[in-house]
Amino acid sequence: MEEWLIYKEFRFEAAHHLPHHTGKCGRLHGHSWVGRVYIQGNKLIEDGSQQGMLLDYGEIKQYIEPLLERYLDHHYLNQTTGLLNPTSEAIARWVFERLEETDLPGLHAVEIRETCTTGARYMKR
Ligand SMILES: [Zn+2]
Repeated sequence: MEEWLIYKEFRFEAAHHLPHHTGKCGRLHGHSWVGRVYIQGNKLIEDGSQQGMLLDYGEIKQYIEPLLERYLDHHYLNQTTGLLNPTSEAIARWVFERLEETDLPGLHAVEIRETCTTGARYMKR
């Protein structure tokens, strides 16, 4: 069987702090976060303007944008997400669960990158 995994990347600027961390992450600070939503499927759209696509990237974006606006971009993540300890891991799970509540088809994973070299990917098995 064929299978595709596509992704849509999104970016946001936001502050957080990790209350338990004894290093610098314990202080209030910000990141230019980069996220990816991964969509999995085994059947491409066969006709119309989206033929040959698993899902239109523009459509994925429409699911992400309300989250960026209301909770993520230029927000204080400890407050807006309700997460007591908003690590990349926790934010990836939080975004995944918010998207899971919508009818976004084929949701597979959410990745959150905190810096150029660090990040976390969450998926359900
Ligand atoms: Zn941080």
